[in-house]
Amino acid sequence: MVASDGPVVVYTVGDFVRRVVESLLGGERRSLRLCARCLVKLTRDHLDKSYAKTAIIASVDEIFAAPGALTSVASSQCGACGRKKIPCLGMPSAIRSTEEVG
Ligand SMILES: [Zn+2]
Repeated sequence: MVASDGPVVVYTVGDFVRRVVESLLGGERRSLRLCARCLVKLTRDHLDKSYAKTAIIASVDEIFAAPGALTSVASSQCGACGRKKIPCLGMPSAIRSTEEVG
């Protein structure tokens, strides 16, 4: 089924999630790297409750795979939950200034 009479531009859940994630990591958390679990939690706080958690998780996974303006690191410490050696996402400047390779 295709809904008719809708607007031409259709934003997917992924579009909204990416916008929220970029604003999270570009704002007050500019210096932090965050893991997928925390990104999902924070993103859900910013999005309408009608968004399915599974869709948000899938969207965050997509951002990790194709970070775009952000940078993903395979092993780092999350700035929110403190877990170590997990994949994190952050602004390129945050990744560079606090590099934790190995
Ligand atoms: Zn975390």
